[in-house]
Amino acid sequence: MLVPVEDAREIILAHIPVMGVEEVWLNDALGRVLAQEVVAPLPLPHWDNSSVDGYAVRAEDVSGASPENPRELRLMGQWPAGQPGDQVVEPGACLRVFTGSPLPQGADAVVMQEDTRLVEDSAEARVWVCDKVRPFEHVRLAGEDIASGQQVLAQGRRLSGFDLGLVSALGIPRLKVRRVPRVGILATGTELVEPGQPLLPGQIHESNRLLLRSLIQRSGATPVVFPLIADDLERTTRCLEQALDQCDVLLTSGGVSVGDHDHIKPALQALGGKIHLWRLAMKPGKPLVFAEACHKPVFGLPGNPVSAVVGYSLLVYPALSQLAGCQTLDLPRISGTLTQSIHNRGDRRLYVRVRLEGGGRVVPSQGHQGSHALGSLATSDGLLAVAERTQLEAGSQVEVIGWP
Ligand code: AMP
Ligand code: MG
Repeated sequence: MLVPVEDAREIILAHIPVMGVEEVWLNDALGRVLAQEVVAPLPLPHWDNSSVDGYAVRAEDVSGASPENPRELRLMGQWPAGQPGDQVVEPGACLRVFTGSPLPQGADAVVMQEDTRLVEDSAEARVWVCDKVRPFEHVRLAGEDIASGQQVLAQGRRLSGFDLGLVSALGIPRLKVRRVPRVGILATGTELVEPGQPLLPGQIHESNRLLLRSLIQRSGATPVVFPLIADDLERTTRCLEQALDQCDVLLTSGGVSVGDHDHIKPALQALGGKIHLWRLAMKPGKPLVFAEACHKPVFGLPGNPVSAVVGYSLLVYPALSQLAGCQTLDLPRISGTLTQSIHNRGDRRLYVRVRLEGGGRVVPSQGHQGSHALGSLATSDGLLAVAERTQLEAGSQVEVIGWP
């Protein structure tokens, strides 16, 4: 019995825990997942302040001012940003202020410097104001950006640089975040050779650990890459046990099919592991194992590189998101219009590599769509699901699953 993808996702997520919590300084918080909500302890801006260099005035004192008919105000002094001050702007007077200077008491607006002329020919400095202002013009009001007590960030959010800028402006120095999961990657196959090594007959260069490693890094987790393992049950069992000891979740590649040299399932069973899932109703990626061994989740991904990447995207990615404490588990969906018809005659859901082109066009990737074909993977932007025994017509509206 092949398990439908949605059912597999449910089974997997039911067995995935959430990482514990630690507190970090903002400097170390980029890309981490929030384990608290962030509430503003104060308003932003903290207080009413000037948005320009100019003069704080009472708006009524300069009503009707124009270049032809300037209003003259007495200059009381200045209040630069960042300095304490307690001057009160009196009727008929103004105070020199700068961008970020607090709005002084008595004043209710700021005239831009460009709309004034400083008159210094008398003993007392005077300013000619050549334009009127509305009350609170060029004033940034306290709390207009963020109100005190407002929730600014929700739990489960992956922190961006913008988030950290906001938290920093609110004066919060440390945040509670989830610990970063360590994800082990282990590849099996007697035919596999490290890239850069010469190939003997029958050997191929290994590619899945690097593929998976980069996807894991992009997911914000820490990959732990283990040496290659030949197809040998005893050796596979020993390596699995050692790897499980060093990570929070383990991904294996290869050896999950029905061949005589596929040892992942027997090795997990030898460790007392429980297989929750094997063989999914999808193409590529049918022979995927989900198990628990040594109290850790294990994903046995197929060895074919595209199958491994598709299995990772649809099933491992949501699991790692849940483990990391993320609120959003699945990959983004991008809508578009299919440019050519696709017929899935099979009885498994087909996942086609597609490119996203201008004007929302969804184009099947050039080249071979086989589960071993890395060429069409490299040029693709995501996956299009085509249900079993279904034809998607050219011109139909579709949703593409973006790559991790
Ligand atoms: P398996 O899942 O072990 O039956 O392998 C399926 C196919 O994927 C075979 O052609 C393997 O040679 C190939 N393969 C398995 N593991 C890897 C790997 N780590 N990198 C590249 N190709 C692999
Ligand atoms: Mg193999």
